[in-house]
Amino acid sequence: MISYEEALQIVQDAISPLGETVLPLDLALGAVLSKPVVAPFDIPLFDNSAVDGYGIRVEDVPGASSEAPVSLTLAGKVPAGHLQAEAFEAGTSVQILTGAPVPPGVDAVVMQEYTAVQDGVVVFRRGANLGENIRLRGEEFSQGSVVMPAGTPLNPAGIGMLSTLGLTKVSAYRKPKVALVITGNELIPPGQPLEPGKIYESNTVTLKAALALLGLTDISVFTVQDDSEATQAILRQAMDYADVTISSGGVSVGEFDFVKEGFLSLGIQPHFWKVAIKPGKPVFFGTSPGKVVFGLPGNPVAVLLTFHFLVRPALLKMMGYTPAPPLPIQARLAKTLKKRPGRMEWVRGHLSADHLGEYTVTPTLGQGSHMLGGLATANAIIVFPENDALLPEGSVVLVYPLHWGIC
Ligand code: AMP
Ligand code: MG
Repeated sequence: MISYEEALQIVQDAISPLGETVLPLDLALGAVLSKPVVAPFDIPLFDNSAVDGYGIRVEDVPGASSEAPVSLTLAGKVPAGHLQAEAFEAGTSVQILTGAPVPPGVDAVVMQEYTAVQDGVVVFRRGANLGENIRLRGEEFSQGSVVMPAGTPLNPAGIGMLSTLGLTKVSAYRKPKVALVITGNELIPPGQPLEPGKIYESNTVTLKAALALLGLTDISVFTVQDDSEATQAILRQAMDYADVTISSGGVSVGEFDFVKEGFLSLGIQPHFWKVAIKPGKPVFFGTSPGKVVFGLPGNPVAVLLTFHFLVRPALLKMMGYTPAPPLPIQARLAKTLKKRPGRMEWVRGHLSADHLGEYTVTPTLGQGSHMLGGLATANAIIVFPENDALLPEGSVVLVYPLHWGIC
C-alpha cells in the first residue's frame, strides 16, 4: 500500500490548472487571478482628508498649543463626495470631512478633536506637520502599476480592492464543477422519518460545506442505491456534468461496493486504490482526459479527512493555486496514543497554546471513523506516523491546525 505522501504526490502530478475565465465579483471569492490586476487610475484618485477636521496652511498655525491657541477664520466646508470649487484662501481654514477632497493650497488637516469653533472662527490647540492627515493622490498605486500579481487568491480584501478599482469582473482560473455521488442503501435524507436499520445521510452536506469554503458552489448531487448497474449509470451522469466527481461510500471490498468498478467501466485510469492511512484506507483516485474522480469511503470522518488531505489539494491546483505545503506545529501530547503500525493515523485533537507560546494537543473523544463529533470539535490533526505504535503522554508530536477555508 502506498503512503499518504506518495498518494498526495500522485494526485499533484496528475492534475493541472483549468483554463482561464472571467468571473463576476460575487463569484470570485476564492478564485485565483490568472492575470495581474493593474490600476486603471491613481489610487487614491485625489488628495483627500484622513480625518474629520480643518484644513490649513501649516505656516498659519505656528506653535499652536492649549496654552497658546491660534485662531483662523472658517472660510468654507467640504463634505465627502463634494467637490470644492472655490480656491482656498491662505490665512483661513476650511472644514473638511473624512474622505473629502483637500482644496489646493491646504497642506495639512488638523483633527477636529484639537479645535473649537466659535462665531465663524476656528481655534487651534495644536499645530500640524506638512501633509499631516492628507492622503495623497496615487500614494497607494499609480495608474498602470500592479495592484495584485497573477496567482493571487482572492480573499475578501482582494474582492474589495477590485471594486475600489471600479471593476465588476476579473480574469481568474476557472473553478471546477463538482459532482457528488452518494451511495448507500442505508441512508435516509434528514427531514424524513428514520426506518429500522437506516441512518441519516450526512456526507452530502459535509462535502458541500467543505467545497463552499473553497469558494466552490457549482455542485450537483447524485444519490444511488448499492447496485452495480445503477452505480455505473449515475457515475456516467456525474462525470458528464463535472470536472471532478467525488463519490462517497461503496469503494471498499464489500459485496455491495460498486464504485471502483463503475469508474473503471467508464474508462477511468486508476492512479491508486488504498492508501496507508486511517481513516480512509480504501480511497480511490483516477483520471480520464478532462475528468478527475475520487472514490471516498463512506464513513463520515473518512470522507471529510480524505477530502481535506487529498481532494482539496487537487481542487486547489485546478484553481491555479500553488500553495506552500502546510507546516506542522510541534505540540506536547496530553494523552498517550496507541495503534498498530502500518498506517498513518490522522488523530483529531484540540490544540492550545500557553502564555509562553508552548503548544499542547489533546486527542478528542470519539476517534472512530464513524464518529464525526470528535472532528466537529477539533481544531487540529495529530499525525501518528505509519510505523509507530505508541506516542506517550508528554512526547512532542506533529500537528496540523485545521484550516478549512481557502484564503
Ligand atoms: P461504505 O464506505 O459504503 O462501506 O460505508 C461505510 C460506513 O459509512 C457505513 O457505516 C455507512 O453507513 C456510512 N456511510 C456511508 N455513506 C454515508 C453518508 N452519506 N452519510 C452518513 N454515513 C454514511
Ligand atoms: Mg456503503
